[in-house]
Amino acid sequence: MENEHIPFPIADLRPVFREAFETWASPSPFDFTQTSIERIAQLHIGFYKGQDLDCPIPFDDLGDFLAHAFYPPSGTLHINADKIWAIDPKILKNTEESYDLQSVAVHEIGHLLGLDHSRIPEAIMYPTLDSQARKVELHGDDIARINFMYPRSS
Ligand SMILES: [Zn+2]
Ligand SMILES: [Zn+2]
Repeated sequence: MENEHIPFPIADLRPVFREAFETWASPSPFDFTQTSIERIAQLHIGFYKGQDLDCPIPFDDLGDFLAHAFYPPSGTLHINADKIWAIDPKILKNTEESYDLQSVAVHEIGHLLGLDHSRIPEAIMYPTLDSQARKVELHGDDIARINFMYPRSS
C-alpha cells in the first residue's frame, strides 16, 4: 500500500484488510500475509483520486466507482480516495454518505481471487453497496462460487 491519498494511518488499515482477507482464506486455498515490500507483494492495494495515470479506469465522472480490482498478474485493488470511508462501524452509522471500507475490501478481494458479480443482493459479490451499509460475511452463494473456482482436491 503506497500513495499520498491514504485516509487513515496504515496501522489502522492493516486490521481492516487482514479481516477482509481472512474472510476469504477459509473457503479458498490461500493464505494471505501483509507486506509493505512492493516487490514481493502479489496483490497491491492503494487509494487513488480522479485521474490515476497508472490505471486503465480512472475514477473520474465516467468511473465513479467506490473501488475496482484487477486479478493477477496485475493483482491491484484501487480504492477511490474521493469517497468518505469509515473503518469504525459507529462512525459509519453516524456519517452520511460514508462507506464501510471492510465491506468494500471483502467484495474487491473476491474480484482479486477471480470472482465476478452475483445477482443475489445479500451476497458479498453483489455489484453495489449502499452507503452506511456493512456487509462483511460471505453468503452461501459467495462460498459456492469460490469453492467452484478452487475445488478442494481431497
Ligand atoms: Zn484504478
Ligand atoms: Zn464488483
